[in-house]
Amino acid sequence: MQSQDLYQQYSEYFMPVYKPVTFIPDTGIGSKLYDVEGNEVIDFVGGVAAAGLGHAHPELITALEKQIYKLWHVGNIFTHRPQLELAKKLITITKFDKIFLCNSGTEAVEAALKLTKSYAFKRFGKHKFKIVSFYKSFHGRTCLAVSVGGQAKYWSGFEPLPDGIIHGEFNNLPQLDTIIDDEVAAVITEPIQAEGGVIPAKAEFLHKLRTLCDKHNCALIFDEVQTGMGRTGKLFAYMDYQVTPDIIVVAKSLAGGFPIGAMLTKTPFNTGFEFGSHGSTFGGNPLACSVALTTLNIINQPELLTGVIDRHKIMIKNLEEINQDLKIFSEIRGKGLLIGAELCPQYHGKAVEIVEFTPQFGVAVLNASANVIRFLPSLIISFEEIKLGMERLHLALAKFISIN
Ligand SMILES: *Cc1c(COP(=O)(O)O)cnc(C)c1O
Repeated sequence: MQSQDLYQQYSEYFMPVYKPVTFIPDTGIGSKLYDVEGNEVIDFVGGVAAAGLGHAHPELITALEKQIYKLWHVGNIFTHRPQLELAKKLITITKFDKIFLCNSGTEAVEAALKLTKSYAFKRFGKHKFKIVSFYKSFHGRTCLAVSVGGQAKYWSGFEPLPDGIIHGEFNNLPQLDTIIDDEVAAVITEPIQAEGGVIPAKAEFLHKLRTLCDKHNCALIFDEVQTGMGRTGKLFAYMDYQVTPDIIVVAKSLAGGFPIGAMLTKTPFNTGFEFGSHGSTFGGNPLACSVALTTLNIINQPELLTGVIDRHKIMIKNLEEINQDLKIFSEIRGKGLLIGAELCPQYHGKAVEIVEFTPQFGVAVLNASANVIRFLPSLIISFEEIKLGMERLHLALAKFISIN
C-alpha cells in the first residue's frame, strides 16, 4: 500500500490525539528512515528520545531475537534471569537500593508518586501528602501525571485535580523556601525540562532542592525519562549535576525503543511499598528486560558517552551556522543530544508547522512547546548523518521562511 493511502486511513481509524507527519516510515537503519516509496529522512527525532541507539542496532536485534525463542511473558508470579540481570546492573551502576519495573515513563512517575505518598503517610501521618512540581514540567499522561505536570493544556478538562499539588517556578530559588515544608511528601522535577522547551535546571536550584528535601524529610524525585540513558553525555543527568535524588524514574531509551519503564529508589523511601502495594502485568517482561540490559551495556561506555558530547558540539555548530544565514532562532541550548532551538518572536507558535514541514526535505525534527525545535537524535548518529540532516534542515527552514 502506498504512503498516501496509509495516511488517509489514519484519521479514519485513530483518535485525533496525534497529528503524524505525512512521511510514513516503513524501515529504519541507524538514523535514516525510509518509506515504502524509498524516500529517505534523517531522523533527528530518535523515536522521541526512545531510540537511543538508532534503528535496527545489530546487538539489540540479537538480544531480542535470542529472547524471543526462550520466554516472552510469565507475569510477576515468576522472576527470571533477564529482569534479575537488568536490576543488578542498574543498581550496581547507580548505587540506588531498589527497583520497580513497568512499561512506560508515566507509569514510573506514577509509581514514584504513590511510593513517596505512601512512605510519608506511614512514617509521618496523613498531613504529609503534598507534591511539589514545577511549571512547564512534563511527567506523562495519567490523571495524576498531568496534574503534577506543570502545563495547564495537559490537565485542563480533567479537573478537579487531586489535592495537595503545588506548582513552583522552575529555577526560582527563593520561592522554594515558601513551597517546601513539612507537609510535602515529594518534590519531582526533570533535571532538564524537555517537553516544556528544553530548559536546563541551574545547578544551584537542584542543590537547593536537595537541601530542602533533606530538611523536610521529603523525597526528591528526578524524572530522567528523557534525560537518562546517556542523553546528556552522562548515563543519567543527575550525575552531571552532582545532586543525588532519592528516586529516579527512567523509561524512553532504557530498552532502545522497546517499551519499558523503571523506578530506582533509595532507603528509606523504598519502604513505602510492601507486598501487594503496587504492580504491573507487563512490568519486568523478559523481552523488554533483555533488550534493556543490552542497551545499558552499550550506552554505559565512556567512549559512547564522550561521543554524545562530540555530537552535541557538531549539532550546535551546525545550528549556529544555519542561524547565521537565516536568523530564525533566538537561542540554541541544551545538553548532550537533548537540544532546543528557540524560534525568534516572529515565528512563535510555528514549531509544530516546522515539524510537519521538514520531512519533505528529508529530515525530521520535533517541537518542544510551541516555540522550540527539539533535536533528540540517536546517541550514535554518524557525523555524515548529522551533516546531511543539517544541510537538509537548512534548505527546509530557508523555504519555510520564504513562504511565511
Ligand atoms: C516522555 C516523558 C514522560 C512520559 O513517558 P511515557 O513513556 O510517554 O509515559 C514522562 N516524563 C518525561 C520527562 C518524559 O519526557
